[in-house]
Amino acid sequence: MARLRPAAIVHYHEVSLKRGNRPLFLRHLQRNLEQATADVGPVRLRQLSGRIMLDLERNPTPEAVRDRLARVCGVASVALAYRVPSTVDAMKDVIGQLLEGRQFRSFRISARRAFKTYPLTSVELNRELGTFVVERSGARVDLHHAELEIHVEVLPAETFVYVNRVPGPGGLPVGASGTVVALLSGGIDSPVAAWRMIKRGCRVVFVHFHSVPYLPDISQGKARALVERLTEWQYASRLFLVPFGEVQREIVLSVPGPARVVVYRRMMIRIAEALARQVGAPALVTGESLGQVASQTLANIARIDEVATMPVFRPLIGTDKLEITAEAQRLGTFEISIEPDADCCTLFTPKHPLTRMSEETTRGVEAALDVPRLVELGISGTTLASFSFPTKEPVEAA
Ligand code: ATP
Ligand code: MG
Repeated sequence: MARLRPAAIVHYHEVSLKRGNRPLFLRHLQRNLEQATADVGPVRLRQLSGRIMLDLERNPTPEAVRDRLARVCGVASVALAYRVPSTVDAMKDVIGQLLEGRQFRSFRISARRAFKTYPLTSVELNRELGTFVVERSGARVDLHHAELEIHVEVLPAETFVYVNRVPGPGGLPVGASGTVVALLSGGIDSPVAAWRMIKRGCRVVFVHFHSVPYLPDISQGKARALVERLTEWQYASRLFLVPFGEVQREIVLSVPGPARVVVYRRMMIRIAEALARQVGAPALVTGESLGQVASQTLANIARIDEVATMPVFRPLIGTDKLEITAEAQRLGTFEISIEPDADCCTLFTPKHPLTRMSEETTRGVEAALDVPRLVELGISGTTLASFSFPTKEPVEAA
């Protein structure tokens, strides 16, 4: 019996669709795979045709590596495999070892050749190896509902054999799509919206507006905890913490209660844009979902959008609360989001905001505000926190 040589095999999907940019996408993917496994090494990574192999021969915790890889954006699936020479005998030997102690009534062999000059076709391999497994185990072949699927991937230099494959998140590798700035409240929606952009290959920089000292310092703690959680998907994050209480206080002096929420949001967009320009991000992201609350009616979203000079992405616009909640639970942000909190937009806001602000009303109430000075007021008090994963210590800067 040959010694087993473990490896992780990463398959990607969309990355392989990009023709001209493919080397760039693969570089991002490779760097992220290395980063995600930085503390569960050693892994030696190699790009092969259509897949990436991580040599785990000296790695004491292959499952930990697999679990990390399965959370790297751009990854379609990950398998813990064994590497063997591309001879049928070597394949049988490792399959025999893989089957030991396993109970199954049906199975299938899924053989693939990554190069067509291999002397056996995949059909012939399926048949040859299938016969071997039938003799060994007594189980029957079932192509459609097999209890056990044995994958055999034949590459020019060697063959990978594995039984379980776990799905990855799909999407694109973080960094491949550029940087966006996400407005992150302490709520359920905005972390999910940010994650959707991460999954599309964006590096997300976060902005949180808080109302200290007018409200207790709870929301900042939630924002930090949320960013920490989301950093597990993008390895390095920046969080801008913007003092918004003073801006709100000035708005309260001249803007009637029912119009305030939209005016607050417009100020948030303007400040977030200024920060986005600082970090070279060409777009913003919010967690708005059409009609969910008064500030998210079609009319009010239009008012909020009017002040933006860059695209504002709203990945949740067409989703409902149940879908968003389920996704937040999967991400582990839900538990943080539902902790009780005093939202900055409840400060100085009446219970019944206007659901349909017109352009005229909005311009009218804002006429009394010195908008550039209020933007500057927010920016000048902004502090920055940095996060990284796997290392978890946040770093603070003024
Ligand atoms: P969420 O669950 O994300 O808080 P929500 O349903 O409570 O969303 P709103 O309170 O209307 O909706 O906020 C809409 C969007 O505005 C949020 O998704 C977020 O992107 C942004 N936003 C709201 N409050 C803040 C804040 N304090 N800091 C940063 N962004 C905010
Ligand atoms: Mg909210």
